[in-house]
Amino acid sequence: MDRDAPPSPLEDAVRTLLVEIGEDPDRDGLRGTPGRVRRTLEQLTAGYRTDPDALLQGAAFDVDYDEMVVVRDIELYSLCEHHLIPFFGRAHVGYLPRGAVIGLSKIPRVVDLFAHRLQIQERMTQQIADFLMTRLQPKGVGVVLETTHLCIAMRGVRRPGATMVTSAMLGTFRSDPKTRAEFLTFIGRSSER
Ligand SMILES: [Zn+2]
Repeated sequence: MDRDAPPSPLEDAVRTLLVEIGEDPDRDGLRGTPGRVRRTLEQLTAGYRTDPDALLQGAAFDVDYDEMVVVRDIELYSLCEHHLIPFFGRAHVGYLPRGAVIGLSKIPRVVDLFAHRLQIQERMTQQIADFLMTRLQPKGVGVVLETTHLCIAMRGVRRPGATMVTSAMLGTFRSDPKTRAEFLTFIGRSSER
């Protein structure tokens, strides 16, 4: 508990929210909730405060390797900016190096950098692709996200459990059908396009 911490506007806002939905923020189970929500939100939006340069520092290596690099099934959790409710699923990222590769463990952290913000899936897909294209300057980048949106599933707006798939293809992934097909085969979506 942050009993001695200065009052937080965010915690005050959560208290207000609890009152407005008809709850009693002072009852036992809810007394610590504003603090917990604040800490949770800080964690889930850490992408606003992560330095992308620090993230990649020392992570790119010059190598004589020009075959496709694919990292698939990267777990991702984000917050839909329209409802502040989670969407989650998997990211698949591929690129064709032009003399430089990035440590494989960095790719999930690039996904997190953009997932840990308020997002819409289409923009996040593009942001991940643009980021790798700019920083790594590969011949091409492909990003596919497959997710479930709880704002859709829980509110019953559409069919619950429906998967939303978005993709961003840059460079040779866009211009060369063979490269794109190779990537889609790697990630098990060979039937597309
Ligand atoms: Zn939503």
